[in-house]
Amino acid sequence: MKPAAPPAMPPLIAHKRDGGELDDADIRAVIAGAAAGTIPDYQLSALLMAIVCRGMATRELVTWTIAMIDSGDRLRWPDAGRRAVDKHSTGGVGDKVSLALAPLAAACGLAVPMVAGRALGHTGGTLDKLEAIPGFRTALTPREMARVLARAGFVLAGQTARLVPADRALYALRDATATVESIPLIASSILSKKVAEGARALVMDVKAGSGAFLPARADTRALARTLVALGARLGLPVRALLTDMEQPLGRAIGNAAEVREAIDVLRGGGPPDTRALTVRLGAEMLVAGGVARDVRDGARRIEAALASGAGLDRFTLGVSLQGGDARAIDDPSRLPRARHARTLRAPRRGIVGRVDAGLLGRAATLLGAGRLRKEDRIAPGAAIMLHVKLGVSVDRGDPLCTVEYDDDARARAASPYIEQAFAIGSKRPRPRPLVLESLG
Ligand code: URA
Repeated sequence: MKPAAPPAMPPLIAHKRDGGELDDADIRAVIAGAAAGTIPDYQLSALLMAIVCRGMATRELVTWTIAMIDSGDRLRWPDAGRRAVDKHSTGGVGDKVSLALAPLAAACGLAVPMVAGRALGHTGGTLDKLEAIPGFRTALTPREMARVLARAGFVLAGQTARLVPADRALYALRDATATVESIPLIASSILSKKVAEGARALVMDVKAGSGAFLPARADTRALARTLVALGARLGLPVRALLTDMEQPLGRAIGNAAEVREAIDVLRGGGPPDTRALTVRLGAEMLVAGGVARDVRDGARRIEAALASGAGLDRFTLGVSLQGGDARAIDDPSRLPRARHARTLRAPRRGIVGRVDAGLLGRAATLLGAGRLRKEDRIAPGAAIMLHVKLGVSVDRGDPLCTVEYDDDARARAASPYIEQAFAIGSKRPRPRPLVLESLG
């Protein structure tokens, strides 16, 4: 069959630019054209910018998302008594929760077909973290995903070529044209992939604070509401938690370092915030999948899988099924480590009043833990290790963080961001809860 002719874009762009609504047939034609590569990038980019500025009505958003899902294949997993439930984060700094969470939820009886992403802007990406494990493969075919899922109960893989190809095309343009920051575009991008990957329920971790894509709390809340409402229209129940990203999660920022911290969590340790968020999100997943009666019951089950080592065993199995060197889990010194380390110390005595996630995320990107351009190579050992969290008391000369790096020029570029990220004052900041709100 001949592909449909691309729509005449200038009148559509003008209509959206002037605050109009796109009709359903036009939306379907735009998404089909984006997936097929038949609409020039400059016209798609102009339309995306008009959407960033004008938003989308609910009908437009639903049609847009369904057209995105229909642009590729939909994966289906045999039920086999396990409900497919996923967790997704809108992107944070030091957020390694998925690494421990997926095997823990699998150990508690769920199937977790997690299609994850790469570092973007100042935020880290689960696939880059996993690839710090020697040999680990994230580019799996649907058949390979099914095999790993059936054996380990979870799979952590990248978007395949046939999974929402329209999102691939639009996302690459958005990243390059400052059009990521749009609630309808973020919501449709995330939920189209979750429906296409075959999830039956979703727990969303919507980040709020300096390290989030949308730092303002009102925007975060609006995004969470949109995700819940859009999920309902797509037949995908979504539970959304707004969680704190004013300071990084845990103590490690950087790919191999974050894998080490996730292993610590699976061993029953790890920083209290990383552990608490893993348990809470796991509990929500178990409720969403009908395995737990309520969040308390879910948390008890996740804690039990931590205490028994069942989560760690699952992680080890999943890593070896995906080609990774499982010896690195028993002995994390096998994970890559940067050659040099430099410690930043407190210039005075006082209370830590700022550990800015956004600045530390930017610094980690400059060190090579993330990408400035899509084609940049990740330095898996580059890291910022925090010695302090918000509200702790320090003496002059106490370590604030250690920067691990391979390249001096990169360390010099990152240094001003790292220095600005910390503030030492005399007042203790008001403690911020880890989970700010929940919806859905
Ligand atoms: N993550 C996604 O998958 N899409 C977005 O638009 C933003 C974050």
